[in-house]
Amino acid sequence: MLTASVWGGAGEHGRSCYYIENEELSVLLDCGGKKENGGEYPFLDSTIIAGLSAVFLSHAHEDHCVAIPLLYQLGYKGPIWTTRATVDQLPAYYQAWRQYVERKSEIVPYTTAEVESIPYRYLEDAAPAGTWFQIERNIRVCWGPSGHMLGSVWLKLELAGKSVYYSGDYSPEPCLLKVQPPASIVSHAYSPDLAIIDAAYGLDTDTQQNLLSKLIVKIRQVSEREGHVLLPLPLFGRGQDILLLLTEQLPELPLAVEIEILDGFLRFESWPDWLQDGAQARMKRTLHGHITTVFNEADRRRMLAKKPHVILTSDGMLQTPIARWYYEQLCSDARHCVILTGHMSEKIEEGGGAASGCEVEFLRYKIHQGLHDVCAMLDSIRPKSTILAHGKKRNTDLLLEQLLNSGYRGLHSLIPGQSITI
Ligand SMILES: [Zn+2]
Ligand SMILES: [Zn+2]
Repeated sequence: MLTASVWGGAGEHGRSCYYIENEELSVLLDCGGKKENGGEYPFLDSTIIAGLSAVFLSHAHEDHCVAIPLLYQLGYKGPIWTTRATVDQLPAYYQAWRQYVERKSEIVPYTTAEVESIPYRYLEDAAPAGTWFQIERNIRVCWGPSGHMLGSVWLKLELAGKSVYYSGDYSPEPCLLKVQPPASIVSHAYSPDLAIIDAAYGLDTDTQQNLLSKLIVKIRQVSEREGHVLLPLPLFGRGQDILLLLTEQLPELPLAVEIEILDGFLRFESWPDWLQDGAQARMKRTLHGHITTVFNEADRRRMLAKKPHVILTSDGMLQTPIARWYYEQLCSDARHCVILTGHMSEKIEEGGGAASGCEVEFLRYKIHQGLHDVCAMLDSIRPKSTILAHGKKRNTDLLLEQLLNSGYRGLHSLIPGQSITI
């Protein structure tokens, strides 16, 4: 028997955390925060944290990592299994989380010293991608790159005879990063008892290529009417892909890149094992292109006054002071456009999108899975039971209905606090 409990991250976007137990052991997959109401955390059951057999972290985004220090407050003493590239990016996410919580006049429930004392073990030191290894008695693990961000992984676990697949956040169509499918459809050798899979985009069937074409068309339109385009992006992840794609596909347009986004791009060069073949050559060409690097407010003012630019800034949710500053400069002029490419936790304030204000567009850049991607994953691994994760409850219900109509079985659309037993 195997029980999987959602402590966060299914039926919602944020605070991903899954607790899995059987008669012999228990593991936790991710432990993140949700950027709502000044920070929400998973439902951590304090009576069982100290006894966890292992904890895994799939990647560095705050919705997967920022509640990890709470585990140590509740008595967990073991390591966090993850990758070196993930640990390299964690300080930036913990810092951004602290800034977010404090901006909302709330208190982070742990100290910076507690964050810095977290012990890590590295998956890639234990075994290369796609290779099984043992971490504890009765726990075997296999990992692979999930294409979602630098260092992001999916995990296959064998827990005392039961098998579990966790996709983490999975991007089947990355531009620079490597992605390794969890199984080959041809072999049909792998069929886990339970899968927890990224279904963040629900019924959406857009391909990356299609979405990218829409983004390029919109940027051209705004530039033709002499407007600035503001692209708020996460520190690491789709921002680096978008920077590269814009220099390749719109080489004629002036591009202004905040130093944080460029730093994220340069960081990719330190991790060649996570990149696709040819990615480094493409990145070099981007860096030799016409990019204006923006370091401070004087640079920002000079650049805005000069001519229309495409501006890449952090963060993706338009909440950092720099992103807000840009928004305030642009929001009252209808020529300009803010393009949001990912999840927004809180609404843009009044002004944007109004008749007299700048245009606000939502054009997704794919870093999660939509309907066809979920089907492809189910076809390749053929799980006996599946939790559809990372999407709002209503969207997940609609996806589940569609999948049932297509003949898939053993699917679950859950919310935090719910469990299934297999
Ligand atoms: Zn993520
Ligand atoms: Zn996530």
